[in-house]
Amino acid sequence: MNTLSTKASRVATCWSFCDGMANLELLLQKCDSLIHIKKLQARLVTLGRFQSYPSITIKLLELCALPPVANLPYATTLFHYLQTPSTRHWNAVVRGLAQSLQPIQAISWYAAISRSPQHVDALTCSFALKACARALASSEAMQIHAQVVRFGFGGDVLLQTTLLDVYAKVGNLGFAQKVFDEMPKRDLACWNALVAGLAQGSRPSEALALFWRMNEDEGLKPNEVTVLGALSACSQLGALSGGERVHGFIVDAKLDTHVIVCNAVVDMYAKCGSVDRAYRVFESMNCGKNLITWNTMIMAFAIHGDCEKALELFQKMGRNGVRADAVSYLAVLCACNHGGLVDYGVKLFNSMAGGGMVPNVKHYGTVVDLLGRAGRLQEAYEIVKSMPMFPDVVLWQTLLGASKTYGNVEMAEMASRKLVELGSEGCGDFVLLSNVYAAHKRWDDVGRVREAMKRRDVKKVPGFGYIEVEGVIHKFLNGDQSHVNSCEIYSKLDEIKFRIKDYGYVAKTNHVLHDIGEEEKENALGYHCEKLAVAFGLISTSEGTPIQVIKNLRICDDCHVVMKLVSKVYNREIIVRDRARFHRFQDGFCSCRDYW
Ligand code: ZN
Ligand code: ZN
Repeated sequence: MNTLSTKASRVATCWSFCDGMANLELLLQKCDSLIHIKKLQARLVTLGRFQSYPSITIKLLELCALPPVANLPYATTLFHYLQTPSTRHWNAVVRGLAQSLQPIQAISWYAAISRSPQHVDALTCSFALKACARALASSEAMQIHAQVVRFGFGGDVLLQTTLLDVYAKVGNLGFAQKVFDEMPKRDLACWNALVAGLAQGSRPSEALALFWRMNEDEGLKPNEVTVLGALSACSQLGALSGGERVHGFIVDAKLDTHVIVCNAVVDMYAKCGSVDRAYRVFESMNCGKNLITWNTMIMAFAIHGDCEKALELFQKMGRNGVRADAVSYLAVLCACNHGGLVDYGVKLFNSMAGGGMVPNVKHYGTVVDLLGRAGRLQEAYEIVKSMPMFPDVVLWQTLLGASKTYGNVEMAEMASRKLVELGSEGCGDFVLLSNVYAAHKRWDDVGRVREAMKRRDVKKVPGFGYIEVEGVIHKFLNGDQSHVNSCEIYSKLDEIKFRIKDYGYVAKTNHVLHDIGEEEKENALGYHCEKLAVAFGLISTSEGTPIQVIKNLRICDDCHVVMKLVSKVYNREIIVRDRARFHRFQDGFCSCRDYW
């Protein structure tokens, strides 16, 4: 307060002594609020000098448009007072808009300036491109890119880095790669942008390859931003040995002094199936733990179905004086969900409001799932009805899934209607509803749903899975025959089927609509990606080695049964990370206790 009032009185004193233009430069330096700006503007206008001091009006505009003042409406009004604005005047406004909550406006202003190209310089393009990155405006970025070349700024290294960053952020990775390849000189910033872009753009293998190329071939030292991209890539791939290598690099490069990096390491180990390693890193963090660290570890236990440890840690966090936030509660609710702790979960959910926390749609979704799985459909529905916000697609899908499990036709129909109203075109929604009808032998309704799917041209999400063997990632699609060892994999699958039959295995292929289900055709059921990956794991790793598979969709009933039996018959630990959680199959049992 003292500093502020001293500053204000200093400015006021200056004003009282300001009779001409002499003190203007000095005053500009002290300007830090809209009132000061307005006073200065008034003085300029009174002196009849507003148009004749461009250096001062540029500075005024910059003060107005950028933080801490950041009053864009006033900046644009001020701009319109100018009779002949220069490029720097335009740049001040475009820059401010690009950083504002409505970056799209910066692009409109850029379009207005570029109609008179003499007003555009490399900085204008750079600010407009940054606005494109924030507004995720891919086609606008491409248009500005074309103009960058036309205006002759194509060789500007800073602009090239900005272009690369924009393309990576808007997900146009083809163009990002192209800009990268064409750059005559690359600094660290551009490697970071591409590694992060590839990791976020679901191209994790390429992100990881680029990370090592940068480090080993180019001799550049990745910084914390780059390692975050590499760790995210490992997490997506479930690449444990790749992740260990990146972790080793982080320790050697002393990047583990950044808490954000350590948090990502904890998350990576958890997502790569090693919750123990995640906990070891969590315990040994010398850089201190923040709220995100605790939340990450609680969520790690939750997705591994280690409900008790998640709850224990949640309490320990409180004892350590760290105040839980909405994310912590979500993590604990997930733990209750995966561990089947229904009553405790509901109690926790109800206690949120008491702790001054407002549950968001994800908390509602988790508690509805929790009740739905336990067959308490009516209670789940009551919670949906009590929601202060609009229930989203995921929530109705959750209720639909529970209705299918418990054969509640009315609830399934109601949830499906809501999904159609919300415009959901998901294949899984239709399949769930048709399965509910099929279970009740309502064949006309089954036919009706099938027709609706055809009419709407419902697209299936293709299933795929990853397995890492000796540091190499192998990707399998459902029914994939493209792997070099395809023949051996398929004959191994035949052998698996033959051997598990002795343990009472019967393929769950009797579902009427499996031919149009999330996991497709009846005959393809036996060749789901996780089965192919596990068969490959069995033939390419030594006896006793655990086999870990990462799958993009939820594991189906049939694969779940097969994995349990394979773990017993072949005496192998099998870990499958599906869309929602980890399943650890050992000696014929799964860590999810068949509750997923
Ligand atoms: Zn399956
Ligand atoms: Zn399971």
